[in-house]
Parts: sequence; structure tokens; C-alpha cells
Amino acid sequence: MSKTVQLQELSFETYMDKQMIKQRVKEMGKELSNEFKDKKPIFLAILNGAFVFAADLVRACKFEHEISFIKLTSYEGTTSSGKVTTQIGLQEDLTDRDVIIVEDIVDTGTTIYHFLPALKKFNPKSITIVSLLQKPEALKFPLKVDYIGFEIPNKFVVGYGLDYNGLGRNLKDIYQLKE
Ligand code: 5GP
Repeated sequence: MSKTVQLQELSFETYMDKQMIKQRVKEMGKELSNEFKDKKPIFLAILNGAFVFAADLVRACKFEHEISFIKLTSYEGTTSSGKVTTQIGLQEDLTDRDVIIVEDIVDTGTTIYHFLPALKKFNPKSITIVSLLQKPEALKFPLKVDYIGFEIPNKFVVGYGLDYNGLGRNLKDIYQLKE
């Protein structure tokens, strides 16, 4: 049965339930294990949105790895501002490391596309992009997301780490903006 949540002036209804998300995250852990089991990669989760997905994803990965966090922002309210700002930088030495970027959602691609040149300056051995969600219709940059949990339509979603004006990150299911 569909559930509704109200976040400030907007109403959202259930779109993906927690069981479906859990199952897919588990599969993604297995997919990553095939590629990274002998590589000891470092996950780089993009704050704030990816914190819930990253926590579940790393626990679904049975290979040795490290995890770190970086804070980038390109969003204001429900639309991408087109500008990317780094608010918390990198502490780790990424030289010659296999780096796995963990995103909650790739929308226009602005955030990751503009972050990649900065990341490449650290001379990592490889860069892999993992995102729980992608909105293929919204993509504006030539960006290849290597591992995608779900492709979704171009509608604003919240829950499982994703927010509306800072709210809704704690919701266990993913909700879509009501028309
Ligand atoms: P992009 O730079 O690819 O346009 O957007 C990436 C970031 O925008 C995501 O990491 C996320 O924080 C935010 N974002 C994009 N689409 C949505 C959405 O539908 N819901 C929420 N809550 N955030 C989104």
C-alpha cells in the first residue's frame, strides 16, 4: 500500500520500498566483489546524500577496503544549481589507489563530472563510479556510471539518505514527489 510523507510544503509518495533497496544493494556488493576482491580499493562516499547507501554498500562488500567521505554540493531545493562546491576535502593519499566513488543519485551529472578532474590530480590507479540511482533523461554531461542500482524517471525523490531541504534522509523507503 502506498504511503505519503509531507516535507515542508511538498508531499511525497512511496516509490521503492526498503526490501527492494536492500536486495539491490546486496547484489551491488556482489558485483563489486567480482571486480575488487583482490584490490583493496578505497570507497569515497559523497556527503551528505550517500551516507546511508554507503553504509549498507560497504557492509555488502566482502573484500578488504577502506572508506572515506567528501562533501560536494550542486543542489539547492529540488533543482541542480550547476555549480559544484567542495565543502569538506580529501584527507587520504589516493596515489595509485583504486578509488570507488559512491553517490546516492546521478541527476544532471554536474557533481561527479566536475569533481573527476580534481580527483585525477591525486593520481589514483583507477576511478569507478557507483550510484544507487540514476536519472538517465536528466544527464547533461558525458559521464559513465559504472554500477547503477536503479534507473529512475526524472522526478525528485527523497529518503534513504536523500533529502528535501535537509529533511527526509532518515526515511527507510524512497519516496517520489507527488504531482
Ligand atoms: P547532479 O550533480 O548529478 O545533478 O546531482 C547530484 C546530487 O544532486 C545528488 O548527489 C543529490 O544530492 C542531488 N539530487 C539530484 N537529484 C535528486 C533527487 O531527485 N532528490 C534529492 N533529494 N536529491 C537529488
